[in-house]
Amino acid sequence: MKVLKFGGTSVANAQNIKLVLDIVLNKAKQDKLIVVVSAFTKVTDLLVLASQKAASNDESFKEVVAKIEKNHLDAIKELIPVSEQSGSLSHIKRIINHLETLLDGCFLLGELSPRTSDTILSFGELLSSYIIAEAFKQHDKNSGYKDSRELIKTNNNFGKAAVNFEITNPLISDYFTSNEAQIVIMPGFIASTTDGIGTTLGRGGSDYSAAILAGALDATELEIWTDVNGMFTANPKIVKQAQPIATISYQEAMELSHFGAKVLYPPTIQPVLRKNIPILIKNTFEPEAEGTYISNQDISHANPVKGISHIDSITLITLEGPGMIGVAGSSKRLFEVLSHESINVIFITQASSEHSICIGILNVDADNAENAINKAFANEIAQNKIDPCIVEKNLCIIALVGENMKNHQGLSGRMFSTLGKNNVNIRAIAQGASERNISAVINERDVKKALNTLHENFFEENTKQLNLFVMGVGNVGEKFIEQISQQKKFLKDNLKINLRVVAVSNSRKMYFDEEGIPLKEWKSLLENGEKADKEGFIAKVKSLNLRNSIFVDITANQEVSETYQHYLKQNVAVVTCNKIACSSGYENYNNLKQLSQKYNAPFLFETNVGAGLPIIDTLKHLIASGDKVNKIQAVLSGSLNFIFNNFDENNSFHDVVQEAGVQGFTEPDPKIDLSGVDVARKILILIRESGYKMAIEDIKNNSFLPKECMDTTNNDDFFKSLIANADHFENLLAEAKAKESRLKFVATFENGKAGVGLEFIPKESPFYNLEGKDNIVQFFTDRYVDQPLLIKGAGAGAAVTASGIFADVIRVGNI
Ligand code: ADP
Ligand code: ASP
Ligand code: MG
Repeated sequence: MKVLKFGGTSVANAQNIKLVLDIVLNKAKQDKLIVVVSAFTKVTDLLVLASQKAASNDESFKEVVAKIEKNHLDAIKELIPVSEQSGSLSHIKRIINHLETLLDGCFLLGELSPRTSDTILSFGELLSSYIIAEAFKQHDKNSGYKDSRELIKTNNNFGKAAVNFEITNPLISDYFTSNEAQIVIMPGFIASTTDGIGTTLGRGGSDYSAAILAGALDATELEIWTDVNGMFTANPKIVKQAQPIATISYQEAMELSHFGAKVLYPPTIQPVLRKNIPILIKNTFEPEAEGTYISNQDISHANPVKGISHIDSITLITLEGPGMIGVAGSSKRLFEVLSHESINVIFITQASSEHSICIGILNVDADNAENAINKAFANEIAQNKIDPCIVEKNLCIIALVGENMKNHQGLSGRMFSTLGKNNVNIRAIAQGASERNISAVINERDVKKALNTLHENFFEENTKQLNLFVMGVGNVGEKFIEQISQQKKFLKDNLKINLRVVAVSNSRKMYFDEEGIPLKEWKSLLENGEKADKEGFIAKVKSLNLRNSIFVDITANQEVSETYQHYLKQNVAVVTCNKIACSSGYENYNNLKQLSQKYNAPFLFETNVGAGLPIIDTLKHLIASGDKVNKIQAVLSGSLNFIFNNFDENNSFHDVVQEAGVQGFTEPDPKIDLSGVDVARKILILIRESGYKMAIEDIKNNSFLPKECMDTTNNDDFFKSLIANADHFENLLAEAKAKESRLKFVATFENGKAGVGLEFIPKESPFYNLEGKDNIVQFFTDRYVDQPLLIKGAGAGAAVTASGIFADVIRVGNI
């Protein structure tokens, strides 16, 4: 004998019921079967709605009933041949009339008692089980039907009645000993008191009905047929990467379901556990999938954590005050109050000082609990011995579950550091002595992020998802996205990094896709995106609240640089090639660095100096290992280097500057490069990263541009001024020739002083042979005294800058 239970989605309509028929008829060839069915999907919710409407004098309950009626009549019409339909149709109509009469009663009285509510809710299973039994008769004339209310007996705790097994078990076994039918259909969820008054076993209780039957009959197996491939490592609707668990122990399954894995109603395990009857969870829509096998054997030791589950809508109530210490029985009194109010306590922690006790209950019970507790402790509160209880609503419990967790050190550390890294604030923690679960209370808005990041850490071979929000998709931005697109697979396979671009924006438009933008189409998607809005962008990043989020600034825009603080405060990392923030006022630079530390959000800007060259990263390592930078000498402008390397008798200064712009080697406004401002910013950033406090005004700028060029206010005028001042530039060139030297724009920091300017570089200098758009930087430090540490290579260009940004993104991934 086996008991099979089919849930709401499995019997949602005629089409699904046909799948159920196939599964059952096939299995009935080997075994006698009891088939327990739920109400059609959502019907119990509709019954709740209709009864609430009726009790509040809202006539639209009739529309809800009409909808329920139509669903069931439609199913009959598809499942039963026309010639035989009339009896079934009129039976359904009779049941619906009865339901309507009850609802009319509620409407007239303006009242809904728990007892009436249970009677009304029972109609879902009565309707579904009748129709399914009729459908079975079409295939197996001897298939039977039994109303569970006649066999499952409970107390009168309406809404969630407790089963009286002493009466129930013999009723069930007596009935089935004399029953010959190979298949018997029964409604789940419903039962009755010994006086015959209808009760229900609690929402989701059809699983329990099936388990009660299986337990009473010593069934060989209990099969729970639902809409997913078993019990998953986390709720598959929230964690896309969740996987079905092949085998799991009763205790683990009970723990997971207790902490919110809705696939199994928590009390279900008890009746079968006692008899050692295995439970198999299967998918009606994918019957060939293996499913989950729950038993007391085969406890897999592969991963000490079996699953992660969560309960929404939690309230924490804290009772504290000096009066709690040493006074025996405060907690006893607290729990008595709650028990008296029938409030279920889901979570408890108590400080060892006994100074405070904290409990987790459902939001719906919060007001009731608060009033009752404050009333019970009114005396102590009046004498200031205990504070009125502190109530925090809209929280959520997340729990790691696994039988074998107790044998592994460091799991809770790993759990909390994973949450901490993602800025998930933990409000309370509990770990049972059995260590079958470690649970934490967090804010409801963080639940998706928390579950996903924990799942990633404990189940996905440490694959880390990075979510990028890219602002600025010009030359460099486009290259950056291209590089991601090329490297995506490599990163996933080799570095276990799953890189997703979740948002792109330019100055006109922005586009978001929570699942990751398909990179082949980003341009057209962006073109059709919403209007760009920096505030809106911040708000969206915040509301998506994705784990490992990174804001990537590939603009040269001041306003964008002013938004970094908002990201860092949300624990969103910032990667930027925009130099403005790091070369702005020292306070601002320092504040961003502090925020980065405080909120555990990396702030990386390697490309601010030398494009993709690892200059800042090297500097960081020098400083971190205790070295001290005493002197820096550098050619830091790829643009100026390109310009002075190409400026000769055959190419005018103006033409070379123009060419540099076309090739993307200058800033959009070339004056920023030629005036020396850009180089001043870069050396300032290196000085600051070396640990010195300095401002841009402290950097002496010996500009080689004539005043007329400096005074221009737009690109056109600037280029004209370069033509007008051609003599000035040619003289510089001639002087360099005469001195057998080359022109280089050099930045220097020594003895606490810094400056930038054009210099005549003699042949012996390592700067003399600097080619094309290369950069070079020499660090003289306590360790590198005579021979400096030297970094040299291409220091401008879209591709190398993009790769520098990329490297920063990967650095975030590795932190
Ligand atoms: P039924 O109507 O078949 O009883 P339920 O809706 O009660 O189905 O339970 C199945 C649902 O439970 C799944 O669709 C899934 O959304 C949810 N669920 C939550 N946590 C888990 C989990 N850990 N594993 C599987 N399903 C889960
Ligand atoms: N139909 C009931 C409910 O929705 C019982 C069940 O589906 O298990 O809660
Ligand atoms: Mg269910």
